[in-house]
Amino acid sequence: MVSWLQQWIVRHIAAGAFSAHRDVLGFALVRSAWTTLAATVLNFVVYQVFGRLGFLNVTLPPDPWSDIVVTAFVAGPICFLAYYLVGRAIRDLAVSRDAFERLSRIDPLTGLLNRRAFIESVADLDMPYVIAVIDIDRFKSINDSHGYAAGDKVLVEVAAELGGSFGEGAVVARLGGEEFGVAMPDRGRDAAFGALDRVRSLLARRRFEVGGGAISVTFSAGLSRGGSEQGYSGMLTDADNALYLAKSAGRNRIVHADDVAAIFPLPDAAGRQLAG
Ligand code: GH3
Ligand code: MG
Ligand code: MG
Repeated sequence: MVSWLQQWIVRHIAAGAFSAHRDVLGFALVRSAWTTLAATVLNFVVYQVFGRLGFLNVTLPPDPWSDIVVTAFVAGPICFLAYYLVGRAIRDLAVSRDAFERLSRIDPLTGLLNRRAFIESVADLDMPYVIAVIDIDRFKSINDSHGYAAGDKVLVEVAAELGGSFGEGAVVARLGGEEFGVAMPDRGRDAAFGALDRVRSLLARRRFEVGGGAISVTFSAGLSRGGSEQGYSGMLTDADNALYLAKSAGRNRIVHADDVAAIFPLPDAAGRQLAG
C-alpha cells in the first residue's frame, strides 16, 4: 500500500499533474467527495444494516439519517484538507523538479544550453543537420591581459551573438570553456558554411569593451555536415578534427570536415591513399 502510494505520488510529480492551483482544488474536491461517499456508505452498512440485524452490540440512534449526515460533515472537510495538502505538496515538488531540470540544462554564465543538453537536443533531431564546433581564438591571452572577469564578459557577449545568429531550428550551446556548439538544419553545404562565416566575420569586426579598452575577438570553427553514418557523436568528432585544422591553418577561419578528408586522405589496407 505504502509503495503503491509512493509510486502514485512520483507518477503525479513526474507528469506535472497539478500545473495550476485550480487543478489541486479540483483534485481535492473530487477525491474528498468520493472518500466521503465511501465513508458514509460504510457507516450506513456497518451500523444500520449490521446493527439492525443484531450483529453489533450497540444502541442505534432512532433516525438513521442523522448518523449519515454527521459522518458526511466530519469526513468531508477532513478528507478535503488532507487531499488538498497532498495535492499542494505534489505541485510544489513538481515545480521544483521542473526548475532543477531546467537549470541542469543551462550554462549559468551564458544562459545557453550546456553540453549535456546540446547532445540530448541533437540526438532528438529528426531532420538532416550540420554540426559546428566553434572555439574562440587565443582566449587565454584575453584572460591573461585583461583579467578573468573580462574573459567572462567576452564569453557572455559572444554567446549572445551566437545564440541569435542561426535562426529558427538551430541549437546553440556552450560546450565548455570558450567552446560552443551549433546544430542547424542542413540546407546544403554552402548554406551552413555561409551562415557560419557571416557570424565569424561579423564578430571579427566587432569591438569588445573590456576594462576601459576595446579588443577584437575571433573564432575558428569546424563544420560537419549531416548524413554521417556515425550519428551526432561521429559528426562532433569530425567537426572537432576540422576545428583542429582551422587552428593549425592560422585561426579565424572555418574548415569543413569534408575538406579534412580531402587534405588528409585515409590510407586503405594496402597503405594507398583513398582520397585527394
Ligand atoms: P586557441 O586559439 O588554440 O583555442 O587558444 P586558447 O587560448 O583559446 O585556448 P586554450 O585552451 O589555451 O585556453 C582556453 C582558456 O579559456 C583557458 C581557460 O582559463 C579559459 N576559460 C575556460 N573557461 C572559462 C570561463 O568560464 N571564463 C573565463 N574567463 N575563462 C575561461
Ligand atoms: Mg580557444
Ligand atoms: Mg578550446
